[in-house]
Amino acid sequence: MKKIAILGSTGSIGTQTLEVVRENGNIQVLALAAGSNIRCLEEQIREFHPKLVAVWNSEKAEELKTYVRDLDVKIVSGMEGLLEVAVIPGTEILVTAIVGMIGICPTIEAIKAGKDIALANKETLVTAGHIIMPLAKECGVQILPVDSEHSAIFQSLQGGQQKSLHKILLTASGGPFRGKKREELKHIQVEDALKHPNWEMGRKITIDSSTMVNKGLEVIEAKWLFDVSIDQVEVVIQPQSIIHSMVEYEDGAIIAELGTPDMKLPIQYALYYPERRYLPGERLDFGKLSQITFEKPDLETFYGLKLAFEAGRAGGTLPTVFNAANEKAVALFLDRKIHYLQIPELIQECMERHQNIENPTLEQILGTEQEVYSYIDEKLSRERG
Ligand code: NDP
Repeated sequence: MKKIAILGSTGSIGTQTLEVVRENGNIQVLALAAGSNIRCLEEQIREFHPKLVAVWNSEKAEELKTYVRDLDVKIVSGMEGLLEVAVIPGTEILVTAIVGMIGICPTIEAIKAGKDIALANKETLVTAGHIIMPLAKECGVQILPVDSEHSAIFQSLQGGQQKSLHKILLTASGGPFRGKKREELKHIQVEDALKHPNWEMGRKITIDSSTMVNKGLEVIEAKWLFDVSIDQVEVVIQPQSIIHSMVEYEDGAIIAELGTPDMKLPIQYALYYPERRYLPGERLDFGKLSQITFEKPDLETFYGLKLAFEAGRAGGTLPTVFNAANEKAVALFLDRKIHYLQIPELIQECMERHQNIENPTLEQILGTEQEVYSYIDEKLSRERG
C-alpha cells in the first residue's frame, strides 16, 4: 500500500488526487493540508482517515478540532503545520497541490526527509528551481510532474534518451481570449477571465491561463524539470488541448502525448510512476475528432508570456519577481481592485525596477517576494491617495 500526503487537498488538484485514491483503493492518505475550507476537510477526514491535518488559518483549525473530536486525528495549523504534513513519517510521496510560493518550504523539507514529490505547485520550481532540483538529486528523490504539459513531456521522454533532447514543444490552449488584441481586453471582468475553454481549474491558475502567464510559469518550470535552457522551450498554441505537449529529439523525431483533457491522468501517472493503470473516463476518438490546429502565440497581446521568457533567461531573483507580482496582481484582480490589463503591467513594472540577485538563497527569494508585495501595495495606495 502506497502512502501519501497532500498539500492543498481541498483544491482542484487536491480533490482530483483524492478521486484517484478512491478509484484505485490501494493508496493510504496519511496527512492532508488546506487553507481554510474546513467543511471539505471534515468530509475528507471522515472518508480517508488521515492521522494528521493542517489548516493554515489557526482559528479554522480550532473549529475543525470540534467537528472531528470523535475521530483519532491530530489537527495543526500555520507553516509549522504544513511542514509537519510534508515530513510525516511513513509517506513515500508528497503531492504539492497548494497554490503559490507558500509551497516552497514544505517541498524543501519533504525532499530532505526523502519523500518523492508529485509536483503540481509550479510556483515552487519557478522561484527556487536552482535549490530544489540539486537538492532532490542529492537526496535521491524524484520530482514527478503533475502539470499536464510537464507530465506529457515526462511521458514523451520515457524510452527516449534525455541527452538527445533537442527541444520541448509546450502546448497551450491560448485561453478564453485567444485571437483578441490588447485593446479588446481592457474591460475584461473576473467572470470572463474565469471561463477556461477546456480545463476546470482553481481560480488563480484559470486567470493565469487567460493572461498566458501560466504558460510562462510552465516554460520556467520545464527548464528546471528537464534540465534545458529557456530557449529550448517553444510554446505552440493548440486550441483543442488534445496534444498535451511534445519533445523533439536531435534527429528531428517528435514524440507527443495526446488525450482528452483530464488531470486525473497526470495525477495517477505521478502517483504510480512508472506503472500505468486503468483510468476510467472518456477516450480520444479520432473518428470524431475533426481537427487539431496550431498557431504561434501572440506575444504582443499576451506579453506576460514574453516577460516569463525574459525572467527565465535572466534567472536569479527575476523569476521570483515575475511570479510574486503575478500572484499579487491576480489576487487584486480577483478582489476587483485592479483592471485585467494591470496584471501584466504590474509584472513588467516590478521586473524593470528590480536589481537581480544571482543564485539567490531561500531567504533572498522570500525577501524578494515580500518586497514585490509591499511595492505593489504602496503603489496602489499612493495612486488611490
Ligand atoms: P486551487 O485554488 O483549486 O486549490 C488550492 C489549494 O491550496 C486548496 O486546497 C487551498 O485550501 C490550499 N491552500 C491555499 N493557501 C494555502 C495555505 N496558505 N496553506 C495551506 N493550504 C493552502 O488550486 P489548483 O488546485 O488549481 O492549483 C494548485 C497548484 O497546482 C497551483 O500551483 C497550480 O498552478 C497547479 N496546477 C493546477 C492545475 C489544475 O488543473 N488545477 C494544473 C496544473 C498545475 P482552501 O481550499 O482551504 O483555500
